[in-house]
Amino acid sequence: MSAPLTLHEALVSVRRRFSEAGIDTAATDARVLIAGLLGLSMTDLVVDDQRSVTEEEGDLIEAVVQRRLNREPVHRILGKREFYGLDLALSPATLEPRPDTEILVEGLLPYLQAMVAAKGTARFMDMGTGTGAIALALLRECPGTAALATDISEQALETAERNAALHGLDGRFHTLHSNWFEAVQARFDMIVSNPPYITSRVVGELEPEVRLFDPMAALDGGADGLDAYRAIAEGASAHLEADGIVGLEIGFDQKDSVSALFLSHGFMLLEAKCDHGGQDRVLIFRPKS
Ligand code: GLN
Repeated sequence: MSAPLTLHEALVSVRRRFSEAGIDTAATDARVLIAGLLGLSMTDLVVDDQRSVTEEEGDLIEAVVQRRLNREPVHRILGKREFYGLDLALSPATLEPRPDTEILVEGLLPYLQAMVAAKGTARFMDMGTGTGAIALALLRECPGTAALATDISEQALETAERNAALHGLDGRFHTLHSNWFEAVQARFDMIVSNPPYITSRVVGELEPEVRLFDPMAALDGGADGLDAYRAIAEGASAHLEADGIVGLEIGFDQKDSVSALFLSHGFMLLEAKCDHGGQDRVLIFRPKS
């Protein structure tokens, strides 16, 4: 029997195998997976790197290494991902929250806070909520608000409800199974969504981590990528208070097309924001007065 590996040796070996498989985030992935699996912090990984890895831990590591080599993303393997300071459970029915989506949250917070300051409360709807990431981040950052989160997937809504309970936000977080506005009755101060926006033609060319593990329903925006925006633009006026706003994540090349669509439905562009890579990523509209 070979001598047990040290933590350092295990990290080096996993990193090398990821790297040889062409995974360009090999070093980070090795660290995040091993730390997550063994319940260690990033500091423990460095400070304790001469401790030996037990046979049981070695087997656990080997199982997740195989999953990563099959291109499953690290956070799917660990079953959770951090978004705006919240640890969120993932399920096969939910998109893995992306850092760029935090810009949507950040962009909407001042509007939501102003509404609460003016009226004491604000109600918003998160359409296609997935893990609940956007709604839960807004609820946590902005006391006095309440959210209705919709999704076409009941499994996604179960995951979102679990996440709400996990963070003690379930009292202000309600869910509704709905295809866009179909089952929605009420009006809201704000409508927010990160809908599917990738064109059907391009979806098949996405990297395997996304194509094979994120739900297609959360990615595929139809022939021109705008199907979800059309549904939202058509129903928004009937579900928005007169002084309400609509906040959307968009694809990097959709600022003009999504703006034109909302303009034709009686909205005007209030603000546009770029993502961490400098690409157009967030649009905020209000009804034309
Ligand atoms: N930003 C995601 C991606 O590029 C797409 C999410 C979406 O379609 N809303 O993988």
